[in-house]
Amino acid sequence: MPDKLLDFRSDTVTRPTPGMRKAMAEAAVGDDVFGEDPTVNRLQEQVAGLLGKEAALYVPSGTMGNQTCIKVHTLPGDEVICEKGAHVFNYETGGIAFLSGAQVHAVEGKRGAFGVAEIERAVRPDLYYMPKTRLICLENTHNRAGGTVYPLELIREISAFARKKNIRLHLDGARLWNASAATGITPMEYASYFDSVSVCLSKGLGAPVGSVIAGSTAFIAEARHYRKIFGGGMRQAGILAAAGLYALEHNTGRLAEDHEKASFLARELAQVKTFDIDLGSVQTNIIIIGAERTGRSPEEILAALRGKGVLLTLGNYMGLRAVTHLDVTMDEVKRAARIIRETMG
Ligand SMILES: *Cc1c(COP(=O)(O)O)cnc(C)c1O
Repeated sequence: MPDKLLDFRSDTVTRPTPGMRKAMAEAAVGDDVFGEDPTVNRLQEQVAGLLGKEAALYVPSGTMGNQTCIKVHTLPGDEVICEKGAHVFNYETGGIAFLSGAQVHAVEGKRGAFGVAEIERAVRPDLYYMPKTRLICLENTHNRAGGTVYPLELIREISAFARKKNIRLHLDGARLWNASAATGITPMEYASYFDSVSVCLSKGLGAPVGSVIAGSTAFIAEARHYRKIFGGGMRQAGILAAAGLYALEHNTGRLAEDHEKASFLARELAQVKTFDIDLGSVQTNIIIIGAERTGRSPEEILAALRGKGVLLTLGNYMGLRAVTHLDVTMDEVKRAARIIRETMG
């Protein structure tokens, strides 16, 4: 096996660089449960500013960020509308039911996005014996759909609709910076349509840990309460927040490179006759590969590639997934493309 694995499983596999580690080592810290960590406070202020929100809160993971927001927005028995493939529905261990006692009303989208027409069909009428539609969650970019960008016109319409109906709107923006890099629409513009936003520092931005949620001052005060209940009250967390600040400064501007790498890799892999790749859905750094026609199980393919030093992961519906990020160079992408094409014949 080659010594360096070419790891395309996720953009979470990146490791802190020497520059980031230095920033972490030198961070000023305090007890953040007392609100006294200057680096955490700086990160929160910076992200609130970038998202145009009054306040923000540093949380240990994207899951805790989303689930804390959902907890603040809902009451037990409420209904949350989200897309069928949504991370909050599929990959957060049933957190909406477990932590908030709310239920999901899943709506099928196209490439992870739906509009007002689909939501209208899902919103409950105002009858005492029905659950209350309290919250809509959108995901931008949409992970399971393959890193697709949520069209801004749809977000605008949904936001206006939600306000009119008094339904809250949350954005799972784990990869919001990728969406911005792809469209040129600022994170602030995207965030302006939502009551709350969650963004990850540990995906394409390359920090080892952490997410930030943002919203109104009152919303964040309540979120701080639930973060503590959920076990997310950290002490000298500035040492981690420093990595987030470093990532925001150094790694947002380079995301377009990851998108170029994904676009190249997708076009290469589309040459494999038995792979099915919707090139139109490769809009950022994720590639979903349909492998049904290969005659091999996804597990078999993953094992064969692993033996040659290339790591992919399972995608949705029996498929494979490849994600580009700052720890794979364009040369390595080219090498991986060659290895995958050879392996698949
Ligand atoms: C990664 C991710 C999250 C957060 O996941 P964690 O593993 O808790 O960091 C949330 N939403 C989406 C869309 C994601 O891709």
